[in-house]
Amino acid sequence: MMEVQNYINGEIIDSGSSEWLDNFNPATGKVYSKITDSNAEDVDRAYEAAQKAQPNWENSPAEERFRVMNKVAELIEERIEEFAKAESIDQGKPFWLAKNEMRRAAQNMRFFATAAMQFASESHATENKAINYTLRQSIGVVGCISPWNLPLYLFTWKIAPALAAGNAIVSKPSEFTPMTAFLFSKVCIEAGMPAGVLNVVHGLGPKVGQAIVEHKGIKAISFTGGTVTGARIASIAAPKFKKLSLELGGKNPNIIFSDADIDKAIKTTVNTSFMNQGEICLCGSRLYIHSSIYEQVKERLIEAVKALKVGDPMDENTRIGAIVSKAHYKKVLGYINLAKEEGGRILLGGESVNPAGFEDGWFIEPTIIEGLSPNCRTNQEEIFGPVISISPFEYTDEIIEIANGTEYGLAATIWTENLTLAHRVAQQLQFGIVWVNCWLLRDLRTPFGGMKSSGVGREGGWEAMRFFTEPKNVCIAL
Ligand code: NAD
Repeated sequence: MMEVQNYINGEIIDSGSSEWLDNFNPATGKVYSKITDSNAEDVDRAYEAAQKAQPNWENSPAEERFRVMNKVAELIEERIEEFAKAESIDQGKPFWLAKNEMRRAAQNMRFFATAAMQFASESHATENKAINYTLRQSIGVVGCISPWNLPLYLFTWKIAPALAAGNAIVSKPSEFTPMTAFLFSKVCIEAGMPAGVLNVVHGLGPKVGQAIVEHKGIKAISFTGGTVTGARIASIAAPKFKKLSLELGGKNPNIIFSDADIDKAIKTTVNTSFMNQGEICLCGSRLYIHSSIYEQVKERLIEAVKALKVGDPMDENTRIGAIVSKAHYKKVLGYINLAKEEGGRILLGGESVNPAGFEDGWFIEPTIIEGLSPNCRTNQEEIFGPVISISPFEYTDEIIEIANGTEYGLAATIWTENLTLAHRVAQQLQFGIVWVNCWLLRDLRTPFGGMKSSGVGREGGWEAMRFFTEPKNVCIAL
């Protein structure tokens, strides 16, 4: 059986614990590989390697960091089929989608390789008195902790800017989806990444993740995951005065106004609601449709979603793969039951499915529910599965208030051909990202992140480079 091992000080090694965790294939419900079960001592080892490697990495020419990171990107692209297959088996997502995500992982490395070459200090002439300049120095050793929904895509989204800014890293991918980070470690060795610059420690969140957050020498933590975990991390990191970037959960609204291009809105909404089984933090799980077009959009959406094939993630026609873990599968089904208890009518789906050949896998039908009040738990809590709630609305002010009326503030989508309305609503929505007539259209230079319980700080472009550096003001009197 395949074994997922750590990458520490440039070597692929087992945890000192000699213990192993089971790794499941969500489509079959069976264990298919083992994960080294690391602990705080492995994190210490990774930290020591990182600390030793960091000064040389920071002081290496930007061209060298650029070269190594580009080489990693190139190697991922050369092995895209292998990486995508591994991601699909590990996570449950369709293979074609995994392939897109692997391209994005390579793009993350390449984008921030370029940032390493372009990131510059600022200077300020203070009249005739002084010249100030801002040195942007590496932090040292940083911690990067990533989730299971877009495993390599989000892992690289964190480590790439950290590397570009000259830091060394102790990282931890999710224990549910460690495989592509393991393959990535091997690619780093092949690309000539200096030993210790990137360390990948596999294992459980409360053990390995927490040891990273608690570690005295690790000065900054970049975390993507659930809001409850984020709050726990913040409570540990804050008294230690660590720099913290938290990308957390969402309960995203998708609002279709009466003048929207309905064909486009429906086509995109199918993805907004159900791509990656709804396991994308940016998925729109609350769909609000203007009452004048409600019945029409509802019927057409149901027809479009009915056509989504649920099943074998390796089949190129599959649109909905398996849910990542048994625990999450039960949680999502629990929310569907809750929605019924709260008075919701199931318009489509609502059940688990057992596609032929995958009888023990964790599959759930894409589910559309109507008739729920804005304040019920189904409309307030993150489900993170193929489940949406739909409701009609009358007035713009009313829908802005409802859209803003959860503890989350990650992403909102609006559909309208009225430019004034689009600008006005975009300004009033309390979300880190507002998409108008599109969804998940990403430019890696833009700030990415959430408001309220969806997080603290922003990733992407210079925001990420600023997070992974310490600014120092040097003031020289003239
Ligand atoms: P999670 O919080 O359970 O785990 C995320 C990571 O944190 C994993 O690597 C886990 O092992 C680790 N971890 C768990 N407990 C820890 C602890 N006590 N200390 C340190 N690390 C710990 O989240 P998940 O279930 O893997 O991911 C799903 C969540 O992530 C959803 O809420 C989703 O919205 C969110 N998410 C947010 C974004 C974003 O950009 N805002 C992107 C993707 C996912």
